[in-house]
Amino acid sequence: MSALRLTDAVTQLPRVGPSVAKKLALLEIESIADLLHHLPRRYEDWSTLTPLSQVDSNVGKILTVRGKIELINSKRSPRKHMLVTEALLSDSTGSLKAIWFQQPFLSKTLHSGQTYLFSGQVERNSFGIFLSNPGHEAAGFSGLRAIYPQTAGLTSKLLRQLIEVALQQVHIPEELPELFCKKYHLVTRSQALHLLHQPRHSSDVAVARRRLQFEELLRYQLRGLQLRSQCVELLAPAIPFSESVAKQFVAALPFQLTTAQRKAAWRILQDMQEVRPMHRLLQGDVGSGKTVVAALAMLQAIQHGFQTALLAPTEILAQQHAHTLTSLLGPFGQQVQLVTSGITPDMTQQVFVGTHALLQEKIDFQRLGLLVVDEEHRFGVNQRQQLVQRSGLKDAQPHVLSMTATPIPRTLALTVYGGVDVTYVLEKPAGRKAVATVVREPNERPHSIQDIGGAVAAGQGVFVVCPLINSSDALGVSSVQSETRRLKVELPGKRIGMLHGRLSSVEKQKLMDDFRGGSLDLLVSTAVIEVGVDIPRATLMVIEGAERFGLAQLHQLRGRVGRGVNSGTCILHPSAGIPAPERLRLLETTQSGYELAEHDLRLRGMGELFGTKQSGTEEWLQFGLPEIGMIELAQQAAVELWAEQPELALKLAVSPHA
Ligand code: ADP
Ligand code: MG
Repeated sequence: MSALRLTDAVTQLPRVGPSVAKKLALLEIESIADLLHHLPRRYEDWSTLTPLSQVDSNVGKILTVRGKIELINSKRSPRKHMLVTEALLSDSTGSLKAIWFQQPFLSKTLHSGQTYLFSGQVERNSFGIFLSNPGHEAAGFSGLRAIYPQTAGLTSKLLRQLIEVALQQVHIPEELPELFCKKYHLVTRSQALHLLHQPRHSSDVAVARRRLQFEELLRYQLRGLQLRSQCVELLAPAIPFSESVAKQFVAALPFQLTTAQRKAAWRILQDMQEVRPMHRLLQGDVGSGKTVVAALAMLQAIQHGFQTALLAPTEILAQQHAHTLTSLLGPFGQQVQLVTSGITPDMTQQVFVGTHALLQEKIDFQRLGLLVVDEEHRFGVNQRQQLVQRSGLKDAQPHVLSMTATPIPRTLALTVYGGVDVTYVLEKPAGRKAVATVVREPNERPHSIQDIGGAVAAGQGVFVVCPLINSSDALGVSSVQSETRRLKVELPGKRIGMLHGRLSSVEKQKLMDDFRGGSLDLLVSTAVIEVGVDIPRATLMVIEGAERFGLAQLHQLRGRVGRGVNSGTCILHPSAGIPAPERLRLLETTQSGYELAEHDLRLRGMGELFGTKQSGTEEWLQFGLPEIGMIELAQQAAVELWAEQPELALKLAVSPHA
């Protein structure tokens, strides 16, 4: 018997006649490969069996039992004219009734005297406890059962049967070399597809997912390399690494660089020595210390006569970066040019920090060697490209370093599509503690006010974040203005500042300076302080209307406190009249920005993750975000394959999937 191929039409499979084929087509399943790539939506666990005697105490739950059919019959219910099939099941511990509605074939497929597995919800009616509409499997079945997204008339059962036949009869070719799979701990494609559709344990699904996602990421990365090899004419100035300057810089820091920071800096400085433009994304959770890594890279550019610019998403952040860079680079004779709207910078200088204002056409660099972009996702790729074009370099592009704390959709997509190199700075500086987080209901407000009073009395700074500037913008939602008024009454004598996007840059700067220096106790602000703001004396943050923010955003916000010697606390106040959404509780239990972002994404659906769907090739990533570090690993693997097996690499790059 000649084996079927993946490219064969599904109609080659037994039992797929015109009518089934038509239904499969509605799911965009035409080839056998399409069928095997149809992802299970979820799995039913049939591996844990409940003895019949214990079913009674589980009303409402979904259980799996093994039982012998003692009796089975079907009848029409007198009132609703429904076909009802009833069976009496037994095992060594007891008996149980199973009831099915409108399933005429059952009395033919299930035979009395035989034993099966049944899985369904336990329900109770006036006649007693029963298993409602259970699915069934042969008595020897063990493991998880895949449930597929369905279309009219195509049950999961039929899909499972078709897939089982396909898995038995189709030859699934392996494109990745055996040694490669071994090195990266990947099962074969054939094994992965078997495990995906017929897992015995949930860990099987994880193994399958890992292999399939890894291969997909590998192909993306290879495509990136291919694109890059096509534009070899794109040059960048090679910026040599000056060890003595780096040593001097590190020695002057008031702290030791973490290992992760040193590694990240090393990768970046290596990249900059190349005549190919660097496109590196530095990803690290809030507070992991990305800025100092960037400053070291900027210093290298300066030392070799290049200009360097740091693009920040908000004015406050630009001001803060200017402040930080002045202290880090000032000793090397640098004057930092802050470029915000309305300021005309001195373009003969070397170090620029700015907001969108840096993107204005009138700003023409003379020799921009390195561009650093903080919180990448707030800028369009096009905007960044404009700046790159005004670098003033002849036939060359500056190196680009992007930094982000959150693996938000676009950054990941960029990573995956654009062949951007990724480095993670995961480790936080020693001694930095987690930000303790609590969700408090409106009636617990006095408790929070007490906490604020306590922090202020201890000489610490407190942030209060509100969703809006002005309450008239949305009724009942706390605003900077209304909250400030309320706090002034609740905390008499405390010095309270109001910060928001409508203030002038001078006003904002003054507020931040006052707060940093301790002449303000409380800063009531909108989410403009979300990213990057670094004020070591701030230890407490209260977030009003917390349900209006995304989890990843809340995580960013709370990262603003506890950055100094004292640990930080974050209190979440949902709006009055709204029960605290469960998702907020997640912030109480996890400190992983990655996990929170993933949760956000799951709530919003994976479709959003990759925005414009590109040629339908991101199918395995629909499983969820790849495990942390996988993008980087796939990239390393891609570079290796590109160098060692160029023909295979090219083949993998051009075909989306087997
Ligand atoms: P993020 O990664 O969120 O941008 P920052 O670069 O703003 O973090 O750094 C947060 C704070 O940690 C800053 O005050 C910075 O000076 C400090 N910091 C950076 N690296 C270290 C380190 N290795 N040890 C101690 N503190 C550090
Ligand atoms: Mg930062």
